[in-house]
Amino acid sequence: MPVKYWKKVGIMLTDWCNASCSSCYLYCNPSRNNWMSAADAIRVWQELREISPHGCKVHLTGGEPFGNYELLLKITQEATAKGLGQTDKIETNGFWAANADIVRKRITELDAAGMRLLAVSCDPYHQQFVPMKTVRLLVRTAEEIITPQRVQVRWRDYLEMGCDTNLLEEPQRDRLYMDWIKKDRDRISGRAADVLSSYMEKYPPETFAGQDCRDSLLKSGNIHVSPTGVVLPGVCSGLCLGNALQEHVGDIWSRVYKSHNDMPILGTLANSGPFGLLDIAKKTGFRSDPLGYAGKCHLCWEIKKYFAQNHMFENELCPVLAIL
Ligand code: SF4
Ligand code: SF4
Repeated sequence: MPVKYWKKVGIMLTDWCNASCSSCYLYCNPSRNNWMSAADAIRVWQELREISPHGCKVHLTGGEPFGNYELLLKITQEATAKGLGQTDKIETNGFWAANADIVRKRITELDAAGMRLLAVSCDPYHQQFVPMKTVRLLVRTAEEIITPQRVQVRWRDYLEMGCDTNLLEEPQRDRLYMDWIKKDRDRISGRAADVLSSYMEKYPPETFAGQDCRDSLLKSGNIHVSPTGVVLPGVCSGLCLGNALQEHVGDIWSRVYKSHNDMPILGTLANSGPFGLLDIAKKTGFRSDPLGYAGKCHLCWEIKKYFAQNHMFENELCPVLAIL
């Protein structure tokens, strides 16, 4: 199979978020405010089930999906009621966990509705916006209700020994960010490429020659669907395989299956990675940064932004890129 069936999908209910983490590959923040309706989320989920012969695990994410808790609960309930299966995971930064009562109520309701795992973000970037004590309360209380096995924390080491980074002086925070980046846990795309790359060592584009992206783009079986319907492969933000609110997900998968080699951005990245894309970009006037790039995804991000902002290859790129 040149293109795997989509079997692991994140439906982003929103691009709104209370936070604006430096690591956010999706560039979410408090001023973005697109939301996917329950009807659209369920329809997309149904279509995914129809086209996935080996099943499709769906998780609900954002942005911050607890920004509209009623919507999150409704979609989880409806998916179960319509026989689509459990919500594999619900992701949150925990900002809403003001006290144990609200955590008990919501986790009990989501558990009854069909949530399998709760995934909680915890690292120096998130803790610039959400207090450690709030995240610890959420994790502790959720573990009491649904057991520790059903509560993922990304990352447990930071939950145990981390601090609120908004309380640090800037030089201290910078040092912590620099040390954390070395753990290599974040995809350097989106805001991470624009912000975190400044803390990282840079390499010339030739360093990434021969590093194709076939596995991430075509072989992982992993996609995200944005609140406006943009289907992006895995966590390769900025790319657009099609719009799930405008066409059947099966039509998007079939087009990728049949035509990926003819799609200038997707085909080039799959076959020769961002260093291959650089060839195309240079012919249109792109000049690579003499300071270099923090990794292949950073180079990829800069080229995608350049194309979008110059109105090139628009049907393969997420419209948000053009306005960053
Ligand atoms: S909490 Fe998540 S969605 Fe929100 S800004 Fe941070 S990384 Fe992005
Ligand atoms: S270089 Fe681009 S296409 Fe390849 S994995 Fe990174 S973001 Fe995805």
